[in-house]
Amino acid sequence: MKLKTIINYLETIAPSSYQESYDNSGLIVGHPDTKIKGAIICLDSTEAVLDEAIKKKCNLVIAHHPIVFKGLKRLNGTNYVERVVMKAIKHDIAIYAIHTNLDNVFHNGVNAEIAKRIGLVNTKILAPKKGVKKLYTFVPATHANKVRAALFKQGAGGVSGFEHRSHASLGVGTNNGSGSNAEVRLEVSFAADKERSVVQALKKTHPSEKIPYDIISIEANNTEVGSGIIGELELPIHEKPYLEFVKKAMKVGCIRYTKLRGRKISKIAVCGGSGGFLLNKAIAQKADIFITADYKYHEFFDADSRIVIADIGHYESEQFTINLLYNIIRNKFRRFAVYSTEVNTNPIKYL
Ligand SMILES: [Zn+2]
Repeated sequence: MKLKTIINYLETIAPSSYQESYDNSGLIVGHPDTKIKGAIICLDSTEAVLDEAIKKKCNLVIAHHPIVFKGLKRLNGTNYVERVVMKAIKHDIAIYAIHTNLDNVFHNGVNAEIAKRIGLVNTKILAPKKGVKKLYTFVPATHANKVRAALFKQGAGGVSGFEHRSHASLGVGTNNGSGSNAEVRLEVSFAADKERSVVQALKKTHPSEKIPYDIISIEANNTEVGSGIIGELELPIHEKPYLEFVKKAMKVGCIRYTKLRGRKISKIAVCGGSGGFLLNKAIAQKADIFITADYKYHEFFDADSRIVIADIGHYESEQFTINLLYNIIRNKFRRFAVYSTEVNTNPIKYL
């Protein structure tokens, strides 16, 4: 199987356009046409993971974190990033990273995987992103259903809150004095990243050569894309037993948390990795506990008795992303050799 086949599939789940501007998700080492014999999935593509790939005859490493974040000016092996890139090239191993784009999707994303393991139901994105567009077009009444069906098939009308919804109004169209015909004015919303396929569907099914259409960005959130997740527990529970449950469920060595508020809790916000930037969103949506990682001493004060911040560790919060990616690939490419890494790449140890 070609590398691009795997990448294209992964990007139907987490389009690379969903990555944050500081990120470097995507194919970091390797050529998309390379034939892939097997893949290893990991959080961090370290030298130890590359050694594992060599041993297992895999020529693809799929990592959550991109090994290269900033530009590389030289490759002489003075640090671990350079050594990994050099080793990958030397052994013909491709490295692909699926980072904040996988963080930012609701379905099959990093946070959905955590939410599932810590017992959350009725989940939704904590901080949805903007990114909804609207298409306006005029279609002869005879073709309206066909065009609308094709647009829906490409995901138009599929934005959460706008599902299979379009608006049509019937009118009379005139064309250079050559007569008039019944015409439908069709409008439909879609997630911004679907623009290309939506326009293609319109062009394929609309009978006119010169299709009258406009696309505008609208002030709505795409609730399927964004940072963090908020959800509820099926039954309210006291804070301490819940944190003990999280410690077990997420295989955490040590949870650092702020003062408990001495009450039963039911609303939980979560963000795998460094989620501190979402604290105010979690408070605004009345979360009782905010579970994330990478908190510093002074930042813990920001809880200010309004919420409990629980830092479960970066690696710990994201470790099940490996299972997530494994299952995504295993379910699609059943006979493909895919492995979860056996290397624990967490650079932090606990005493
Ligand atoms: Zn991370």
